[in-house]
Amino acid sequence: MRPGERTAIAAALKVSDARFRAISDASPLGILVSDELGNCLYTNEAYQKISGLTFEQALGSNWSLAIQPEDRQRVLAEWSAAASGRTPFQSEVRFLRSDGSVVWARLNAVAMRIGKSAHGNVQTVEDITARKAVETQLRLAEEALFAEKERAQVTLNSIGDAVLTTDPEGRLTYLNAAAEVMTGWSGEEARGRPLAEVFNIIDGSTRQIAANPAQVAMAEDKVVGLAADCVLIRRDGGESAIEDSAAPIHNREGRVVGAVIVFHDVSASRAMTLKMAHMAHHDFLTGLPNRALLTERLEHAMASANRRRKQTAVLFLDLDYFKHINDSLGHGIGDQLLQAVAERLSTCIRATDTLSRQGGDEFVILLADIEQAQDAANVGEKLLAALALPQQIGDHELHVTLSIGISIYPDDGKTAETLMKNADTAMYAAKASGRDNYQFFKAEMNAEAVRHLLIENNLRRALARGEFVLHYQSQIDLISGAMTGTEALVRWLDPDLGLLQPEQFIPIAIECGLIVPIGRWVLREACRQVKAWLDAGLPVVPVAVNVSAAEFRHKNFLAGVASILAETGLAPHYLELELTESSLMSDVEASLSVLRALKAMGLQLAIDNFGTGYSSLSYLRHFPIDTLKIDRSFVCALATSEGGEGEAAFVGAVIGMGRNLKQRVIAEGVETLEQLTFLRARQCAQGQGFHFSRPLSATEFASLLVAERQQVASPSPG
Ligand code: C2E
Ligand code: MG
Repeated sequence: MRPGERTAIAAALKVSDARFRAISDASPLGILVSDELGNCLYTNEAYQKISGLTFEQALGSNWSLAIQPEDRQRVLAEWSAAASGRTPFQSEVRFLRSDGSVVWARLNAVAMRIGKSAHGNVQTVEDITARKAVETQLRLAEEALFAEKERAQVTLNSIGDAVLTTDPEGRLTYLNAAAEVMTGWSGEEARGRPLAEVFNIIDGSTRQIAANPAQVAMAEDKVVGLAADCVLIRRDGGESAIEDSAAPIHNREGRVVGAVIVFHDVSASRAMTLKMAHMAHHDFLTGLPNRALLTERLEHAMASANRRRKQTAVLFLDLDYFKHINDSLGHGIGDQLLQAVAERLSTCIRATDTLSRQGGDEFVILLADIEQAQDAANVGEKLLAALALPQQIGDHELHVTLSIGISIYPDDGKTAETLMKNADTAMYAAKASGRDNYQFFKAEMNAEAVRHLLIENNLRRALARGEFVLHYQSQIDLISGAMTGTEALVRWLDPDLGLLQPEQFIPIAIECGLIVPIGRWVLREACRQVKAWLDAGLPVVPVAVNVSAAEFRHKNFLAGVASILAETGLAPHYLELELTESSLMSDVEASLSVLRALKAMGLQLAIDNFGTGYSSLSYLRHFPIDTLKIDRSFVCALATSEGGEGEAAFVGAVIGMGRNLKQRVIAEGVETLEQLTFLRARQCAQGQGFHFSRPLSATEFASLLVAERQQVASPSPG
């Protein structure tokens, strides 16, 4: 080559080189040229800016010099893989610059070939830091979103409430686990279906389809509660009572984009409420309506009878002698019998009538809308016939009968209360006329008179069957606390009415004259009992027996007392007779002779309820009386805030008189310590009352006597 040519070529090369540099420096991409060993031959300005290396620093060193050490291995491995596969090399790496900053770069390399031989590589380097940052942010946001979703999902699936969501068209978008169980639909199957298909709800009482709560929540853009008494029909047809609410879902702009329904099963609590309501209106033993429900229905029936110009009947039923069965065979048998009877009675009435149990052995039947009273009589016949066959209860074949009283609305009463009361009175009339029958209420029937009649009838039977018992109440020495006597008090164990107190039957017995044979029974029983205790070696105290005026004036009274003493063998000083002032005062002369005769026989005599009669104290002096029993009403008034000064003065006077006449004074009805303290302060000798002991059965009283003996045997100090 000629020198001129060489110069020209050198000049052209220089231009070409300058052009190349200018082009490469103008490029925003970094450019690195390396030899076949990877050592840097050239870098452009952009490369220097990205890598943080100067031209000189890069020159001659391996192209991977600027790469962050953690990335270097990977990139070199990718490089050699690309080289061996003769494919272009591409990678994303971090450059670690000398100032410590990191730059993300995208590398692209192509081999430089001249002919078939390789002459190193050209790499372009793109700064992708900004893009990477955005990517990282996006990834973090995605992760956060995922975690959030996951959290919501887990929460929704672990809560007991069922949750489902819909889109604005009311199609299902989501069900949590509880909603899947309650609807019977899986989330997958349900998704996209109309809400009503999956969340199929009806009104529990009308069985009509209930309003779609999601639709309402979205339309009105507010939270709405589900209708009360809402029932969800499961996919398999099963039902559960549910309760809860629906709310709209909003997007960021506040637009409604769906709804969420939250609900839960209230079947158990609703069932409990129903059960409670049932219990409040039904009898526990028989499951029949109770008094409350009957009254409700009766009022309803009266109103309806009014409108339809019809009548309503109330049948009051009482089992005859049920108490006797209950007491002798036990409550278990009694309960079973009541259930069996309820069963039979229920077959005698229409579905629109009501059979109810009032408690005990009383049932009430309400016949709604009858045409005439005869209809009620027909039902009465049916009821009596239904019980005609005996009942098999356990091992017992029991035959029970009914007494039925009937009242008719509107003739026998305009209110439920009057109708019931009158039917009850009529029932007593049925009992009084021999039981096992029915009676209509009649205007002339007076509740008290009917009861009287019944008791009178029953008293005759009671005497014959020995239904009376005696209870014993102790009389106490107020200083020593020792028992000084006892009073025999009669009780009546009626098989129908239960245990009756003397007030409930003694006045009736007096009225109808039955008091005489009853009094004789009491006297005999008291003497027999005390003699038996004596024979058993108990430390017996004298027994006081109440004698009514009718008995006292009866011509056979003295003979009766004498024969009973002889018959029972009781020593007369163990017997005291309690008489009232009025029986003594009605015929003073006659009284005096009887009293003297009794004293002559060796008996003790007491005036009962002293202070309530109008006895002249001067007469009293003439009577051979041993004991004055101060009436309960005076003792009751002592030591009260109402004063009781008059009573206190009277009690004081009686105590003084008793002391003068050497009579024993007993204060009756001592109930409180205050009364006792007062009586002691006035030196009242003896007392009787609940404060010391209630009247006890013979067995209980015998135990008291035994305890008394033990106390006497080992007196406590003081
Ligand atoms: P009574 O002769 O005045 O008998 C005392 C009554 O007072 C008894 O009532 C007794 O339970 C009650 N009593 C005793 N301590 C207290 C007390 O601390 N507070 C109160 N509030 N009451 C007390 P009971 O047993 O109901 O007898 C009532 C009445 O019936 C007797 O009054 C008596 O007049 C009559 N009675 C009882 N048994 C017979 C009897 O066999 N024959 C007759 N003819 N009458 C009898
Ligand atoms: Mg008495």
